[in-house]
Amino acid sequence: MHGWISHPDDVDAKVAEWSAQYPERFTAESMTQYAGRKVWALTVTDKSVDDAPKSKTMFYKPHAHEPAPIAGQVNVINSLLAGETLDGRPTEFDNDRVLTDALLTFIIDANPEGTATAPVEYWDGSQYTNDEFWAWMRGVDPDTGKMWKRVDLWDDTKEEKLPTRYGIVYEQISEHEYVEPNRHHSSTLFKWIFKLWERYEWDQMFSLHQTEFEKRDENCMIILPVLYGDQPEDIKEYETQWADYVVSAWADLDGGRPILESKPLGYSGEQRQYFVERWGRFYDKSRIITSEIQNNSPKTSPFLQMRLNEVAIRATVEFGLGQC
Ligand SMILES: [Zn+2]
Repeated sequence: MHGWISHPDDVDAKVAEWSAQYPERFTAESMTQYAGRKVWALTVTDKSVDDAPKSKTMFYKPHAHEPAPIAGQVNVINSLLAGETLDGRPTEFDNDRVLTDALLTFIIDANPEGTATAPVEYWDGSQYTNDEFWAWMRGVDPDTGKMWKRVDLWDDTKEEKLPTRYGIVYEQISEHEYVEPNRHHSSTLFKWIFKLWERYEWDQMFSLHQTEFEKRDENCMIILPVLYGDQPEDIKEYETQWADYVVSAWADLDGGRPILESKPLGYSGEQRQYFVERWGRFYDKSRIITSEIQNNSPKTSPFLQMRLNEVAIRATVEFGLGQC
């Protein structure tokens, strides 16, 4: 699709182009994941301006079966650097203000090997049922032929039965170990977050995701932290207003059908515990929200998936600037 980039080979080429053309506004840093691909942390800001008073936001994209946030981030970065998206839509940002007053870091794809292993560049609901899609996500269970299990870390020498195809959501971190990037500190995502936190201590951390909205008419939502109820009052208030701001920007977009009321992540048991253990240390320091945009459904085209991401990022940047 014209204007869509998500494959890591294409992202790498675009990063090289931005680095060459916009060195005063663009910084590309990488860590190489076990499989050999570069996991980028891309920072956009006017480097001649002191960073201290800037509104600082980190955007990150953990899951390889959710490619639209990559395409959305590419177009946002291109809009800020070149004044337009890849398909020639003019920037929707006040570029000068954003570059001067904001510092934006994009961990554009936390598991590029997973992204590259997907059978499609976007999931539009025309080729794979959700059951087939989920089996791409977590792997194929050898007994049922359906989706394999969800764990923070697994070791393929210790499983009784291995998936007949490994899931792309898992990042390989050693010869035999695999992790879900936002659920284990050994992921390249967390290595980046811990390293960059020391440098930036972001005001806003925005986790970009997609989900299927199988039984709902809506196609996008914001989720508040799993421990929202325990966060300091000022952080809760900030996150709620930020969520509402994104939701209202989605509602203004042609095709945007947001869930209007944003709620905390509703996990219980083991899945809740992963978030408490792995993210808990950030909940009283930063403001963190998560976006979910419909995936693998004919009701939300790939272009609309990308647009909803672009709009959520734009609204987040605007909201951050309004707070400083
Ligand atoms: Zn996700």
